[in-house]
Amino acid sequence: MHRLVFRLPETDGQPVPIVIAVLGPPGAGKGTQSSMLANLLRVPHISSGSLLRSYARDESEVGLRLRGMMAVGNLIPDTLVLDVLATRISEPDCARGLILDGFSRTLGQAELLERGLLKSPLYAHNLREKLVALHLRVQNSTIVERLSGRRICSRCSATYHLRTQPPRVRGECDFDGSALTIREDDRRATVLKRLRLYEQQTVPILSHYVEKASLLEVDGEQAKEVLSQEIVTAIQSMLRSSTSGAKNVWSTLEDNL
Ligand code: AMP
Repeated sequence: MHRLVFRLPETDGQPVPIVIAVLGPPGAGKGTQSSMLANLLRVPHISSGSLLRSYARDESEVGLRLRGMMAVGNLIPDTLVLDVLATRISEPDCARGLILDGFSRTLGQAELLERGLLKSPLYAHNLREKLVALHLRVQNSTIVERLSGRRICSRCSATYHLRTQPPRVRGECDFDGSALTIREDDRRATVLKRLRLYEQQTVPILSHYVEKASLLEVDGEQAKEVLSQEIVTAIQSMLRSSTSGAKNVWSTLEDNL
């Protein structure tokens, strides 16, 4: 069994935060929607993919291993992902809740997260209201189209799409003029593999979230602004009916709309 211990930051008696785990196939818009929610709720946006990419840049043995696995579209072993994530979640800015982008991706990760949360007095009661999985549903054909056109700034990681969101100057980032690159794992064969893994490993955990926490499902095919609105409405109505401290998140959301 994994030795993970979540050391969640103290909240100085503030009301209870919630964790929103944003799930969906690669290219579903998890990053964009997680960032929108994080801004509205004023909580950190923690992407397991970005965290892993930053560790993968390291020239250490772990860095090399991560680079190899990510380049071919494999999932990173649960223990390694959880170690990286637990370090980040222990930081003080996570005290008011957090948006987890791309986590959990396996049943093992979902269970480890829940076990970790349940150890904290903040989450020990009524986990159903404090842990919400938000599932962005998107068809495979849309994913392949989206990812084959995705380009990333080599310096600041700003994201573009050749057709729907092109840069002002071809091949150059709008913000810093650096060269745009294709993410290694966005190549077609790798995308198809990532989709297969998503169906095998991640789709089965949706029913787990229905049982153990809360699951919100939205149509990720929509334009991103329309989708953001649908997500906010879904979260508002869920938090409105909340009976626990999750209500404080609802008022933050109201204040920021
Ligand atoms: P993303 O940026 O979310 O598309 O993730 C990019 C890659 O990082 C994935 O294809 C996996 O190799 C790895 N990764 C990200 N999150 C996880 C996770 N929760 N579990 C396992 N591997 C992950």
